[in-house]
Amino acid sequence: MTTQSKVVTRFAPSPTGFLHIGGARTALFNLLFARHHGGTMRLRIEDTDRARSTDEAIAAILDGLAWLGVEGDGEPVYQSARAERHAEAARQLLDAGAAYRCYTSAEELVAMRERAAAEGRPPRYDGTWRDRDPAEAPEGVAPVIRLKAPLEGETVIPDLVQGEVRFANKDLDDLVVLRSDGTPTYMLAVVVDDHDMDVTHVIRGDDHLTNAARQALIYRALGWDVPAMAHIPLIHGPDGAKLSKRHGALGVDSYRAMGYLPEALRNYLVRLGWSHGDEEFFTTQEMIEHFGLEAVGRSPARFDFVKLESMNGHYMRQAAPDRLMDALGPVVAAQPDAAEIEAALEGEGRERLTRALPSLAERARTLVELLDNARFLWAERPLALEPKALQLLEGDGRRHLAALHERLSAVDPWVDEALEAEVRRYADGAGIKLGRAAQPLRAALVGRTTSPGIFDVLAALGRAESLGRIADQAATG
Ligand code: GLU
Repeated sequence: MTTQSKVVTRFAPSPTGFLHIGGARTALFNLLFARHHGGTMRLRIEDTDRARSTDEAIAAILDGLAWLGVEGDGEPVYQSARAERHAEAARQLLDAGAAYRCYTSAEELVAMRERAAAEGRPPRYDGTWRDRDPAEAPEGVAPVIRLKAPLEGETVIPDLVQGEVRFANKDLDDLVVLRSDGTPTYMLAVVVDDHDMDVTHVIRGDDHLTNAARQALIYRALGWDVPAMAHIPLIHGPDGAKLSKRHGALGVDSYRAMGYLPEALRNYLVRLGWSHGDEEFFTTQEMIEHFGLEAVGRSPARFDFVKLESMNGHYMRQAAPDRLMDALGPVVAAQPDAAEIEAALEGEGRERLTRALPSLAERARTLVELLDNARFLWAERPLALEPKALQLLEGDGRRHLAALHERLSAVDPWVDEALEAEVRRYADGAGIKLGRAAQPLRAALVGRTTSPGIFDVLAALGRAESLGRIADQAATG
């Protein structure tokens, strides 16, 4: 046994599905705790269930962690590759007399459970082979290996979030550590891997709390130190019920496609169950500096899309245009008309978008919303106007457009201050409010009644496109 002071945490997902939001938070907490203590976080892919683990799920987990910026240190450990080592640990338990071979057949187990149920006892293995002479082993039956768990007393987990959690040993049966085909059970694999990976702190969802007691028994039987444990309450929906898809129990990739910035999701997740005074916003550096398990709450955090959106809006407003442009890539790719948008963004559309990004970011809470509001930038002339926008052209609208076309043609350079000054001059001269000039402009340039500031729109579209769109809708003759 090595004595070491360096903190090592781990994130140990089972690749049977996507990286869900709860898993992402677990990974983040593990990473922050490790970094706070100058330690490392390892990634372990728990792919022992070969039937349910898929390569796609592994790829989705790695991809999700990378996108969210919560990658582990070093190469991931694949649990399935360590089966031999797990079997060796089971043999070590046998040799030490801390485990035994059990020959109870599947049918006998069923009968045992039924008997227990009929007698009102919990449906557990009854210890038949615990003290039985192995010479009585039936022929041709491959045994499982069971842990000789203590029958009396308590197993206490001094949990860093839940406090001291006590389990009566009489409730913990002789669990199987090695199956009859020689493969390890989850319970054994986790213990052996955490030990071999020098894990000092196990931070995971509190659905694993009972496992902690069973695992502690295995650690002790192997003569190993039990790592510190921290079981964090699961995430619930805003209504307090278990998190469902409707509430946001989705894969991290869905959040990317819905247009959230990873830095916003990270900030949202760190606040989900952890707090530092009333502070809401944290840079990664600040998270590392302040994170601690003592400030993780004991009751389930509630997932709230509205709050996530508002946090995302905050991060979008702060993001540099280059950053937003990068983040838009996967959002564009997830659109049904991705190819068209990508084509538009290869040409002039990209420059227009770059110019419009700051004002678009002011008005959107997600990148999807931003993209939707940006579509006018590369719409083909003549624009198809929404009915409400068409209404803005009625009355004097088209006539103002014709006059504005002439006035704006003379503006040079084509920058928003100069454009604004000219539109204001026109409105003053015509004796109309600025809005009366700006609204038909908006309708002609955007095709909608809402948009970023009209001078930003003019500047983003550029001279030729703006004048062209205005001319398309202006009164002729
Ligand atoms: N593989 C387990 C899961 O995905 C986690 C095991 C652990 O953290 O100990 O739920």
